[in-house]
Amino acid sequence: MVLKTIPALQSDYQMQDYEKLVAEFDWKEAEKAFSWYETGKVNIAHEAVDRHAESFRKNKVALYYKDGNRNETYTFGDLKKYSNKAANVLKNCSTLEKGDRIFVFMPRSPELYFALLGALKIGAIVGPLFEAFMEGAVYDRLDDSDAKAIVTTPELVDRIPVDRLPNLETVFVVGDGVTEEGKVISFNKHFEKASKEFEVEWLERESPTLLHYTSGSTGKPKGVLHVQEAMVQQLQTAKWVLDLREEDVFWCTADPGWVTGTAYGIFGPLLAGTTNLVVGGRFSTEAWYGAVEEFGVSVWYSAPTAFRMLMGAGAAAMEGHDLSSLRHILSVGEPLNPEVVRWGMETFNMRIHDTWWMTETGAQMICNFGSMPLKPGSMGKPVPGIEAAIVDDKGNILPPNRMGNLALKKGWPAMMRAIWNNPEKYDSYFLNDEWYVSGDSAYMDEDGYFFFQGRVDDVIMTSGERVGPFEIESKLLEHPAIVEAGVIGKPDPVRGEIIKAFIALQEGVEPTDELKEEIRQFVKKELAGHAAPREIEFKDKLPKTRSGKIMRRVLKAWELDLPTGDLSTMED
Ligand code: ATP
Ligand code: MG
Repeated sequence: MVLKTIPALQSDYQMQDYEKLVAEFDWKEAEKAFSWYETGKVNIAHEAVDRHAESFRKNKVALYYKDGNRNETYTFGDLKKYSNKAANVLKNCSTLEKGDRIFVFMPRSPELYFALLGALKIGAIVGPLFEAFMEGAVYDRLDDSDAKAIVTTPELVDRIPVDRLPNLETVFVVGDGVTEEGKVISFNKHFEKASKEFEVEWLERESPTLLHYTSGSTGKPKGVLHVQEAMVQQLQTAKWVLDLREEDVFWCTADPGWVTGTAYGIFGPLLAGTTNLVVGGRFSTEAWYGAVEEFGVSVWYSAPTAFRMLMGAGAAAMEGHDLSSLRHILSVGEPLNPEVVRWGMETFNMRIHDTWWMTETGAQMICNFGSMPLKPGSMGKPVPGIEAAIVDDKGNILPPNRMGNLALKKGWPAMMRAIWNNPEKYDSYFLNDEWYVSGDSAYMDEDGYFFFQGRVDDVIMTSGERVGPFEIESKLLEHPAIVEAGVIGKPDPVRGEIIKAFIALQEGVEPTDELKEEIRQFVKKELAGHAAPREIEFKDKLPKTRSGKIMRRVLKAWELDLPTGDLSTMED
């Protein structure tokens, strides 16, 4: 079944003239939205929080927080006050200075946001860490970046190997009754007493802000360094892609441990003065639909893995929930299968808009805008101001419909400025000093829509054909028995590689040989003979990163009996 193009929405007022913007837009235009455009004094926390707190948005809700028995509301005025207090605590109880690395290692909570924004106010470089990291993962990141301080909770503090981190001077612990000894400082004790006034550290556009370690889907996570100027693109895409408006309630489900959770869980929407929802705890269908209803979420940014889980839970899970507040849904992190887009249309009568970008790009790059027709299976077109192309290994631009390296013309505002401690790695991303090469393989059709095919390393060469795993995985998902699928190439003396599919079945479905054959025939008939998996293995679960990405390198390592490499970002 081929899904037809879904027509443009009328509602996307910002982007009605995409072609004109592409021809005329200049990032210099977007800079005018910031106070530093006039003053020259730069700090992203000022632009995201203080500026609104000093405007008509002072009493507007900046943050709703819900987790278990906590249900709290903070205005922009509150956020200014509490991030100032946090800044005072961090500054007064440590030797942290501008440019020093501080990590934030805690579950999603208002305190995480206060600490992160406070750290930015003192000009430190913030490394967000996902709460599920164990000791080895925490050590690697703190050691690699020579961290001076960390903010954590009583539950997580034991995972910080202070003895092995001689340069780690201060461990701030957020919680009640924390005993101060050694490097440990009670965050709450000082927070209560701290002044709510703080003189923000003024910086330059090129001053570093965040050090984000990548998801580790393809190998050891890399420390990607971002700078203040990223805010230009984060705000512009919040307007264009997220389509945020004054009255919206925006929910980005990503944890700040990943780049989506900072760029769009914090900065984009706050820079735009938007009300944000943060929901703590783990994914559950009931909690998620419940949160949309309770807070009247209108714009929702999530990931294919979450949509697939909601899809698997079926219509019954939605019963009794009024989801009519939703008007715009977006996805990131993994290819958005056409099957999920179809489900979105059927379930919400709404298009799910794909957005493609990476930790290294710092902000959205290729997206489906509301104002353009949507081709299911395509991630859309470049954000105006961004030049994307499919290039060969020498940097030559390939014609439409040819699979190759997805590349971006170097120099967009949110582009990473370094890989920490690894200049060779940083340089290796660039070709002829012109193109940033993403490591993803894709093609562009004659209408300028980009189609993701897989990681370059995951592309399968079988009997002389290049096949991207994504297309096969998406086809497999259309089979009613299948919940999730991961496809790899397995070396084969005759065919180069053969296609092997790892499949998780719907609950209650019997994993039989007949079913394998049926699935094989299904792909053969619906996609292509050479794309049908020769080998199929049923699994209860597929190995995934904590941000929900299928780890094909782990499937491959299992299959070929190779070392699995760094597993710090893999979910339990
Ligand atoms: P690592 O670089 O450590 O291996 P990672 O690449 O998964 O991990 P991220 O920067 O979080 O780390 O993810 C970026 C990658 O996610 C992209 O290169 C792409 O492969 C995938 N991705 C992101 N958005 C999309 C999308 N909309 N469609 C397809 N793939 C996507
Ligand atoms: Mg990557």
